[in-house]
Amino acid sequence: MAKVAALWLRNVLRVLYQRRNVTRAQILEATGLNPASVSLALKALLDSGVILKVGALQSNGGRRREVLNLNAEAAYFVAVDLEGTRIRFALTNLFGDIQYRSGVDLEFGQAIEISTILAGIQSVVQQLDDAQRSRVLAVGISHPGFVDRRGRITAVNLDWRDFPLLEALRESLEVPVFLESAHRTCILVERWLGAAQGSDNCMYIIVGNGIGVGVFTDGHLLKGRAGAAGELGHIMIDPAAPDICRCGKRGCIEAVASCPNIVRQYQARTGGESARVSGNRVTEVFERARQGEPAAIEVLDRVGKYLGLAFSYLANLFSPEVMVVGGDLVHGQDLMLPRIRAELEKCALTRSLAGLELKVSSLGLDIGVKGAAALAFRQSLAQPALLKKMCTPFAVAVPRAQKRPRHRKIVPGRG
Ligand SMILES: [Zn+2]
Repeated sequence: MAKVAALWLRNVLRVLYQRRNVTRAQILEATGLNPASVSLALKALLDSGVILKVGALQSNGGRRREVLNLNAEAAYFVAVDLEGTRIRFALTNLFGDIQYRSGVDLEFGQAIEISTILAGIQSVVQQLDDAQRSRVLAVGISHPGFVDRRGRITAVNLDWRDFPLLEALRESLEVPVFLESAHRTCILVERWLGAAQGSDNCMYIIVGNGIGVGVFTDGHLLKGRAGAAGELGHIMIDPAAPDICRCGKRGCIEAVASCPNIVRQYQARTGGESARVSGNRVTEVFERARQGEPAAIEVLDRVGKYLGLAFSYLANLFSPEVMVVGGDLVHGQDLMLPRIRAELEKCALTRSLAGLELKVSSLGLDIGVKGAAALAFRQSLAQPALLKKMCTPFAVAVPRAQKRPRHRKIVPGRG
């Protein structure tokens, strides 16, 4: 293992994570590494049991090409999604596939206690036996708002200001914890496994309790100074708008188009009770619009117009190939996407629109935990100690077919 550069291992593991079931030739092509490096990396990973030979393809020339895949049980991650109206906890395998899950419902603006997060993590980890538990590599957390360099989170949705989440979890957990804003974990996993797969210029726009954007530009995840890039919600979309934002300003896109504000505007028009509203009631507004209720349609027209305008800014600024929309707004995708698209096409440059795809997230409600798991995998590759732990040999039940010598010679005439 020592002679195998970490860079080769990282690249090979990343390709297997994203594509699963690949041949050596496909790994060569996807990583751009030279054949000797790939061979050394594959040997080390096969020897340690992190990857497995799962079959073979017969090429045109009659040559057998072995198909390789990650060993899903080689490592586990805990994934936590703090965005939205339900905190989700998941135990995932190496691929990020969910093995166990639990959750706690949350009111908008309700503070979460650290004990709730620890209990949720515990509830999924205790599903493993001792041997499996020793292979839990890290905890990934996808959260609303933003995190500073010291791991302190500010998120109005959770009633947190400079909340020392990282420090609090480190005190109680034996494995590393990684934090990232939800809009960034979501674009990470959409680009690896979802609607933006393979795209180097793509973005994920989350429209839920808040509004944010995660951006990959030229293959790089945009973070900005202090990790604060992507606060799309507080772009002032209309300085003359009366809508007051949580940030204290007027006319932010979030003050108009976040799900709680969609509900607020609907209630204001219908004279409904406007006390604390929950973003998940936005589905009721969508349903009323489908039934043709004028007040609901009026609100959605306004929201679609402002979102489309905000999307046109993003299209002109970053020139993406794919814009993926996620969050509770997708419950009304049949209503909102045509409205957003119409305004986007009206406002963006023709050049920015050429070839641009506007899609809805393909990963559903699990995107937050899948993004958190992808974050934990990505960080585990980046950190030498965790990469080493991932590649540490462990006892695996290897099928008989895989125990044959790797270089068995086939001699003509001897069967
Ligand atoms: Zn604002």
